[in-house]
Amino acid sequence: MDLTQLPPYTDTIDFQALANTNPDFNQIYPQPSTHLNFQDPVVLQALTRAILNSHFNLTLNLPPDRLCPPIPNRWNYIAWIQALLDSTSPTYSTAYDPHRPITGLDIGTGASAIYTLLCLRSRPTWTMCATDVDKKSFDSAVRNLTVNGLVTRTRMLQTLPSDPLIPLRGLGVERLDFTVCNPPFFGSDAEMAGSLAGEGKSSVPSAVCTGAPVEMVCEGGDLGFVARIVEESFMLRERVGWYSSLLGKLSSAKTIVEMLKGKGVANWAVGCVETRGATKRWIVAWSFGDLRPRNVSLGKDIVRTLCIG
Ligand code: SAH
Repeated sequence: MDLTQLPPYTDTIDFQALANTNPDFNQIYPQPSTHLNFQDPVVLQALTRAILNSHFNLTLNLPPDRLCPPIPNRWNYIAWIQALLDSTSPTYSTAYDPHRPITGLDIGTGASAIYTLLCLRSRPTWTMCATDVDKKSFDSAVRNLTVNGLVTRTRMLQTLPSDPLIPLRGLGVERLDFTVCNPPFFGSDAEMAGSLAGEGKSSVPSAVCTGAPVEMVCEGGDLGFVARIVEESFMLRERVGWYSSLLGKLSSAKTIVEMLKGKGVANWAVGCVETRGATKRWIVAWSFGDLRPRNVSLGKDIVRTLCIG
């Protein structure tokens, strides 16, 4: 499989096929039933590891008390970002251009370093920067990049909560082509507890959450975190090609777009990350450059650019 052409996930994963090719996953895959217990953290980790191994040739090890990233959701964000970058190339090529040097920043890379791993594995000429404030996650991220032979293509920086979210100077880089981020979503422990208990939804979430508080909660929640990125982007402007982040709700994505429009940013795009059986997430990306993205539709509308400013 040519990983530079990998499409976003549109269908449910064939667990049986995964079990057939992954001895570790096969051990926990219940036979003959096809029902996986998503409430069991061991099952979730085994599934994530098997998908990464089979589909991306990546190895992952995680501390049990940190987030276990669902791969379809994470990959679909990266596939969207790749399409955004490809469609705004200064050479007007729309496909992956192996001669175009690209450097991205993964803000809050987490114990998995998932976005950095996916970017580097799928785009052999890209380099990445990755930050995190949490020592345990940071150390684990370094291990995951090392074990996959990708640490030499990554600049890692453990930051403080008071540091900039886009610390160009600390990273020792002049400019970046893009940023990606999956921010802590909740503004307080109580908000997180309510959401994880299924408040306001018809059923409780289908997968257990193993996230530590530093991964889940920050001042102002995802909106507060992304508003900080917006503020920094007004200082850095074209030193970053495309700023982007995931947001938990459409209303939060709209608030960020309004904030950008209010400050005169005309080049922005919104995407939806929707994978079967998982909560919808929203991507907002914006640029101070004048290369406008095509209205890219990826796969069966699962990851799509909804609107372009
Ligand atoms: N990117 C990973 C982890 C997301 S959880 C994934 O998608 O699975 C959010 C991450 O942001 C956590 O690892 C947390 O430690 C980190 N974080 C929280 N505040 C931060 C800050 N001010 N600067 C950088 N990272 C931060």
